Amino acid sequence: MAYRDRMKKIILEARINEYAMRDVNPHVPWLADEIAETAARCREAGASIVHFHARNADGSPQHAVEVYADIIRKIRAKCDLLIHPTLGWFANDGDPAGRIACVTALARDPATKPDLAPIDTGSVNLETYDASTGAFSHADRVYVNRTDTLIHYARAFKGSGIKPQLVTWSVGFTRRALAILDAGLVSEPAYLLVNMTDGPYLTGHPGTQAGLDAHLGFVPPGRFEWTANIVGGNLLALAETALQRGGHLAPGIGDYPYRELGCPTNEEVVQRAADIVRKTGREIAFPEEARAMLGLAGPT
Ligand code: ZN
Repeated sequence: MAYRDRMKKIILEARINEYAMRDVNPHVPWLADEIAETAARCREAGASIVHFHARNADGSPQHAVEVYADIIRKIRAKCDLLIHPTLGWFANDGDPAGRIACVTALARDPATKPDLAPIDTGSVNLETYDASTGAFSHADRVYVNRTDTLIHYARAFKGSGIKPQLVTWSVGFTRRALAILDAGLVSEPAYLLVNMTDGPYLTGHPGTQAGLDAHLGFVPPGRFEWTANIVGGNLLALAETALQRGGHLAPGIGDYPYRELGCPTNEEVVQRAADIVRKTGREIAFPEEARAMLGLAGPT
């Protein structure tokens, strides 16, 4: 690892809910007040970015601009975290332009402008597989991100002053992310989420040292600040390796319920990640430091 990477501060991105239900871990925040309260507690525990999905009272996805605006205002009233909403997925999959309409609308008002928004740089099957029974579920589910759509998103985000988080599920996604950088569509350093998958999710690299290293062989140094995430797996178990390899960490109960830790809150998971960072002799980045490291514009 280069000297710069050994010394840099560590960005903790709290991924607090995704589309997780509460059947395993009851602490998943759904509504605006819950999300804002969770965000503030994660900030105290060491997070500098919060990634969230708007949800209804029954946990179903919510895509309305005004709901996202309400959440962002409530988070900003409580803390200085960098704001990273999702684009939404289930309702807008067939409408690429509509899919980013929410974040570009939010960006028109400085009070609700997101700092970051995700772009997944490829398409994946999103089935689940139960190894104990051999049963596939959601076997028809594909998350489609055509390249012309990605180009459209990158241009729109640039016009809106939103930094993309480029989400890579495997090496081909990373190669496409690099092409997007080479084409001048996203400024450097780009923020890359190395999105591994474990448990019932087959489509990414496994959330193991071998899975991470197979991926990182194709992440050139210097062009990205990358962060590690595991959908369906325990990121804390891989955290020290990710830090040693020059990465940041994106923990949270949105991606994994941490049943083996007693189904903790988001802030407890962030606290554990922060403890691992400090144990390895590193420091946690404050939000303004994360903003500078990712090349974001000043606070809105
Ligand atoms: Zn998400």
